[in-house]
Amino acid sequence: MVVGGGIVGLATAHRLLTERPGATVTVLEKESCWGAHQTRHNSGVIHAGVYYTPGSLKARLCRDGNASMIRFCRDHGIAVDVCGKLIVAASEAELPRLKALYQRAVANGLTVQLLDPAQAREYEPHVRCVAALHVASTAITDFGAVCDTLARLLQEAGARLWLRARAYRFVPRSHGLVVETTAGEVTADVLINCAGLHSDRVARLAGLRPPVKIIPFRGEYHQLVPARRYLVRNLIYPVPDPQFPFLGVHLTRMIDGSVHVGPNAVLALAREGYRWSTVRPGDLTDAVGYPGLWRLARRHLRYGAAEVRRSWSRRRFAASVARLVPAIEPADLQPAGSGVRAQAVRPDGTLVDDFLVVTAPGQVHVLNAPSPAATSALEIARYLVNLIPT
Ligand SMILES: Cc1cc2nc3c(=O)[nH]c(=O)nc-3n(C[C@H](O)[C@H](O)[C@H](O)COP(=O)(O)OP(=O)(O)OC[C@H]3O[C@@H](n4cnc5c(N)ncnc54)[C@H](O)[C@@H]3O)c2cc1C
Repeated sequence: MVVGGGIVGLATAHRLLTERPGATVTVLEKESCWGAHQTRHNSGVIHAGVYYTPGSLKARLCRDGNASMIRFCRDHGIAVDVCGKLIVAASEAELPRLKALYQRAVANGLTVQLLDPAQAREYEPHVRCVAALHVASTAITDFGAVCDTLARLLQEAGARLWLRARAYRFVPRSHGLVVETTAGEVTADVLINCAGLHSDRVARLAGLRPPVKIIPFRGEYHQLVPARRYLVRNLIYPVPDPQFPFLGVHLTRMIDGSVHVGPNAVLALAREGYRWSTVRPGDLTDAVGYPGLWRLARRHLRYGAAEVRRSWSRRRFAASVARLVPAIEPADLQPAGSGVRAQAVRPDGTLVDDFLVVTAPGQVHVLNAPSPAATSALEIARYLVNLIPT
């Protein structure tokens, strides 16, 4: 039984049925469509795997996931474009970090190229930089379409797919669990928790004491007005601040041709809080009652305050990307929705950087699967299925 019908849950169910053809696989999803949360609210980038610590799960599963996701899209007629991206050092001060990224990319087995400003402008004519890194294998797609395809394949393979089925109680049995959901009861001998923003709660319901709490960080987007899309050919990213797992506000051509600007990172006032006005008192007290959040806030007060100010100011949003493409002005931006990241935070206030999977007898819990988990989904699935005894 897989709880959570986002890209990780669906990919895992699909992998299970492929590797264990006799298995009965059920997927429970509380919403009325697949991938309703993080999976349909993101940048749509199939990352190459530049940023991640060599040897980490993220580094390995992202690099392999890039290849397998591109192949999956091509095999199933899902739009995908291997367009590459530029990571841009806007000042001399960023050069050492850009060079460190180059070395990390090479250590992760990627083909990347350091460019001078003139070479960078051959890829992106409107960019201004002191140097840039070109990453050829970065691609774009629609992860929602990937979910729809996985759901269709699962249906054809005989999986039980339950939408509008929120799992809210797990009753242990001598062998496995009975899961009570808003759509009825199901029994399962293995539970795979892929509940994203609620994964720590699902783990707790199943009897685990998770070592982390999910803190929701909203990422807000603007988009370039259509007449200004020509300023960005593909993907333009800043050099990220290594203290944070977020990549910084960037420019992304989406697979539908629009150009997104973002996402920033502000604390969401609900686990599924897509705007400031969405406040869920239960989620909020849960977050503010967690010592890890206060420790995190104390450490990054200035960064957090700057993110909040940018969230309320289109001018500041535009200024962030005008460092990369100076022609972009506030009037070029219009709001384009948001997504909420499920970021695991430890009690000491540190952010969990790598993917985090915790097991118990008959249970596998994915407790941290932020970016690049959509890219890596097919490989995370393989990894999870290998954890389940035959
Ligand atoms: C702003 C933003 C930008 C991003 N950009 C990228 C990117 O460009 N590339 C990339 O690779 N990754 C990106 N990511 C990360 C990526 O979107 C996520 O890592 C990925 O979608 C996680 O998938 P998931 O299946 O774990 O979670 P989700 O898609 O959130 O799925 C979890 C599902 O579980 C369901 N659920 C929860 N509780 C229950 C319950 N009790 N019962 C039943 N169902 C339940 C939820 O309704 C949800 O549908 C981005 C994320 C955000 C927020």
